[in-house]
Amino acid sequence: AKIIETHEISKIYKMGTQTVEALKSISIEINKGEYVAFMGPSGSGKSTLMNIIGCLDTPTSGTYILNNHNVSDLTENELAEIRNKEIGFVFQTFNLLPRATSLENVALPLIYAGYGKYDREDMAMEALNNVGLADRAGHKPNELSGGQRQRVAIARALVNNPSIILADEPTGNLDSKTSYDIMDLFQQLHDKGNTIIMVTHEDDIAHYAHRIIRLRDGLVETDVVNDSVTRSN
Ligand code: ADP
Ligand code: ADP
Repeated sequence: AKIIETHEISKIYKMGTQTVEALKSISIEINKGEYVAFMGPSGSGKSTLMNIIGCLDTPTSGTYILNNHNVSDLTENELAEIRNKEIGFVFQTFNLLPRATSLENVALPLIYAGYGKYDREDMAMEALNNVGLADRAGHKPNELSGGQRQRVAIARALVNNPSIILADEPTGNLDSKTSYDIMDLFQQLHDKGNTIIMVTHEDDIAHYAHRIIRLRDGLVETDVVNDSVTRSN
């Protein structure tokens, strides 16, 4: 089943008299359960495309359908609602609240979703358990290693049971060993049926994905299924 469908989406940024065509005509389809890496040089449009897919921004023209919702022309409020329901974000810089514990950080999206305190704690604990960090529930970010912080961020992305996990350079601030541990975790999430889309500029990280889409100058340059990856499903 298709979870993402873009039809000839473009994005034009206007700055004074200058215009930048960040995306020219992007048509891609991503099925539920796929694990996709976006690659491409700086300025090729990766962030712009991720922002549109993540419902942080809308295209200038073309259509974007996310999990059967046409999100091309929604208002800010409607976009925010879909974003909270459908998307789990993972960032290079983790973006955790420094004064909050792991459990509190993971539970945060559930406050916006309207869950009560006990449900929030149960769900956050389960998400921490899923990333192997149940024993760090009471720790604050500065009491955790980089890899553990990223696991907390991944638990937070998962806690709402989103349709898609969007990860922007998820290993960008981690050493190699820790990066591969995080990629092993993504592999487990993929094996469980999660849909994962990540941006990376590192070939050995992109290799973990089962499909690599390369952008160049706002266009899809190549879109390749990565057959060298051993499939477990
Ligand atoms: P990438 O993530 O691959 O580095 P971006 O999507 O950030 O690429 O940028 C694509 C193009 O759009 C670049 O030329 C960039 O300068 C331009 N761009 C991105 N965001 C903005 C913005 N908010 N305003 C103006 N131009 C932008
Ligand atoms: P090959 O191309 O020799 O078949 P791959 O490079 O595709 O092998 O990787 C084989 C397995 O190792 C894959 O499951 C991949 O996710 C994983 N992998 C890829 N690069 C690295 C790396 N640098 N360190 C650890 N594991 C990796």
